[in-house]
Amino acid sequence: GRITIAIDGHSSTGKSTVARQLAHKLGYIYVDSGAMYRAVTYFALQNGLVDHDGLNEAGLVARLDEISLNFGMTDEAGKSPIILNGENVESAIRTLEVSEWVSPVATLSEVRKKMVQQQHQLGGEGGIVMDGRDIGTVVFPQADLKIFMTASAQVRAQRRYDELLARGDQISYSEVLENVTERDRIDSTREVSPLKQADDAVLIDNSEMTLEDQFQLVLKLALQ
Ligand code: C5P
Repeated sequence: GRITIAIDGHSSTGKSTVARQLAHKLGYIYVDSGAMYRAVTYFALQNGLVDHDGLNEAGLVARLDEISLNFGMTDEAGKSPIILNGENVESAIRTLEVSEWVSPVATLSEVRKKMVQQQHQLGGEGGIVMDGRDIGTVVFPQADLKIFMTASAQVRAQRRYDELLARGDQISYSEVLENVTERDRIDSTREVSPLKQADDAVLIDNSEMTLEDQFQLVLKLALQ
C-alpha cells in the first residue's frame, strides 16, 4: 500500500532533494515542512515583526490567523511552490535573512501547533513524503519509514553556499557555515519538538555519498 515517509535531519543535508525524488518516483505527494516555517518567518519580516530588538514573538503569535499557507501546482521538476496569502514566495523564503530568523520563529509553540495541524491535513493517509525536523518524532510518529539525514557541517555549508551563489546572493562561506550550525543548535535545544533522531529512524550520513547513491538507498528502504 501507499506508505508515509518521514525524512528529518540537520540543516542543508539535502533532505528536500531526496524527498522530492522519492515522491516523484513513487507517485506520492511531497511536502517541504521547512518551507512552511520559512513562509511564517517571511511574513514576520515583511510585517515589521523583526527589528533591532529582534523577533517580536507576541506580535507574531497575535497575527498567526492572518497567515494562510498553501502549496501550488507541482511543476516538471516535482516542485510545488509555497503560497503565502496568495503570493508565491518559494524563492523569497530561501534568502539568508529568512534562514537567520527561521529557527527563532520555529521555537514558538503556537507557530508549531498551527504548522502541525496543517501538516496533518496534508497527509497521514499514506502516499506522502514529508521532510523537516520533527516529522518522524511529532508530526507522523507512526510513519512507515523514517530517515534521519546528517553530514559534516563543512560539507553542508559548502552545498548551501553553492546554491546561494548560483542564485546570485551576496554572501560568504563563513556566514553560511555560521547559519547552518546556529540553526542546528537552536533546533536541537528548543523546548518544543526539538530536532532529534527518532528511535526507529534509519541514519544516513551523506558527507561522502553522491545524490544517486543516496536516492538508491532511500528507494530501497521505501520498497522494503
Ligand atoms: O528545512 P529547512 O532548512 O528549510 O527548515 C528551515 C527551518 O525551519 C529549520 O532550521 C527549523 O528551524 C525549522 N523547521 C522546524 N520543523 C520542521 C521543519 C523546519 O522547526 N519540521
